Amino acid sequence: MNISQDAAERLLAWFRENGRHELPWRQDRTPYRVWVSEIMLQQTQVKTVLAYFSRFLSAFPDVCALAEAEEETVLRQWEGLGYYRRARQMHAAAKKIAEERNGAFPETFEEILTLPGVGRYTAGAVLSFAFEKRFPILEANTQRLFARLNGLEIPVSTGPAQKILWGTAEDWISERVSDASPCALNTALMDLGSLVCTPQDPKCAECPLARECEALRMDRTVEIPVSGKKMLYENREEAAVLIFRRRMDGKREFLLLRYVEGEWWAGLWDFPRTQIHSEDARKELADFVWKTTGLKVQAEEELRTFRHAVTRYRIRLRTFCAAEFLKDAENVILERTPAGGEIRWVCEEELETFPLCSTGRKIAELL
Ligand code: SF4
Repeated sequence: MNISQDAAERLLAWFRENGRHELPWRQDRTPYRVWVSEIMLQQTQVKTVLAYFSRFLSAFPDVCALAEAEEETVLRQWEGLGYYRRARQMHAAAKKIAEERNGAFPETFEEILTLPGVGRYTAGAVLSFAFEKRFPILEANTQRLFARLNGLEIPVSTGPAQKILWGTAEDWISERVSDASPCALNTALMDLGSLVCTPQDPKCAECPLARECEALRMDRTVEIPVSGKKMLYENREEAAVLIFRRRMDGKREFLLLRYVEGEWWAGLWDFPRTQIHSEDARKELADFVWKTTGLKVQAEEELRTFRHAVTRYRIRLRTFCAAEFLKDAENVILERTPAGGEIRWVCEEELETFPLCSTGRKIAELL
């Protein structure tokens, strides 16, 4: 698409009036703050990130503080944001910056791209938002906006579509179009995509780029952007069990397992939990606990059922309580699960600060 200076001015005028200038990560745009916010905002809504960003920055005010923290502490601060791999990669990236650059955030595209968990979008966001360098960005909101502006009739995830969309992102921040700050231009485009060019019912009457919009001209704003294949969801039954024992002082301790690399929620803790294939969830759960921890238990009282989704799975999770594990000479707990995960008895009071996966946290709240 051809982008005129006039279009850029209309966009920026709209942004001055309507942009989300109050977002905390838009104040004091240091590379560290931009990076943390962009990683948090991947696959997570702004309103969710709002609750976490300031708390995370208080816990880890700079790259070195993050690098020095224990992984469990980082995961605990991240708990609830989901997609924990992001937190673990961010922690690894902070260590790399602390060790190799003495805590100074890299300033070139190539260097930023070497950080774990950083792709073209995040590198462009850090460079344009924190360093005012002319680097394009393409994320969900601008992708939808550019697809409509271009009247793009092919699925946006395909190679040819991505080439067109990144090309449009580059055009918007070129000096030929505007000498305005690349930070302002990129932020304005993101806000326009998010607030006006919404997935359903875009507000075309309020749009400063309506006269440039090919999808509007063709009356195809409902059909564009064209998505690729629809995700095929699969139902899955799972069950978890709260196994507890009493300490000498009468307090309860619960059995927790830690997920290992390659499993969902790697690095986080959870109550023993497994997929269920038959009608007898209690028996399958007891077999799982025996094989995984060496404990013989009998799942008794059924507690709540939770429904949640992980990737393409729609999961129904039943929870049970096992008040006492059966006393038996062979009932000796293993040190690690067959997958290599840690096994630990954790006091009820400690659970609050333990980095649990999101459903593990919901189960803990039942107590
Ligand atoms: S005119 Fe409508 S569809 Fe086109 S960019 Fe603006 S809001 Fe989106």
